[in-house]
Amino acid sequence: MLHDPKDTTLTCPCGSNKPFSFCCEPAIEGHKPASTAEALMRSRYTAFVLGAVDYLINSTAAEQRHPDDAALMSEQIKATTWLGLKILNTEAGQADDEEGVVEFMAHFETAEQKADLHERSYFRKQGHHWVYVDGEVDIIKQE
Ligand SMILES: [Zn+2]
Repeated sequence: MLHDPKDTTLTCPCGSNKPFSFCCEPAIEGHKPASTAEALMRSRYTAFVLGAVDYLINSTAAEQRHPDDAALMSEQIKATTWLGLKILNTEAGQADDEEGVVEFMAHFETAEQKADLHERSYFRKQGHHWVYVDGEVDIIKQE
């Protein structure tokens, strides 16, 4: 690790090149909800980096939540080092849309493997807030 991602003067872990305090932090801290599906996706990636489990659960569509989510996510967060995010494509998901799709690649490392998570994620507005619904996931192993 080159820096502590919790240092808000530094670049946001989501790879936007913006300071954390002007990028994903307001959404994760609950000060300002993500205005687009892509912003929500970026903030969820950052929440995985920082271990913000409550935010990950709160930004998941109500019907997709499971009682053991917090335990599973905490385990996954402990076992995984996230190394970078690349947004590949977005469809709709703007501030005035009701649904959106974000396709991304996230590079990660565990004790067993280095790999890329390639996901096409579906997002929906729940009330006035974007939430994650589900996604088609591909794990691409690196040698
Ligand atoms: Zn960010």
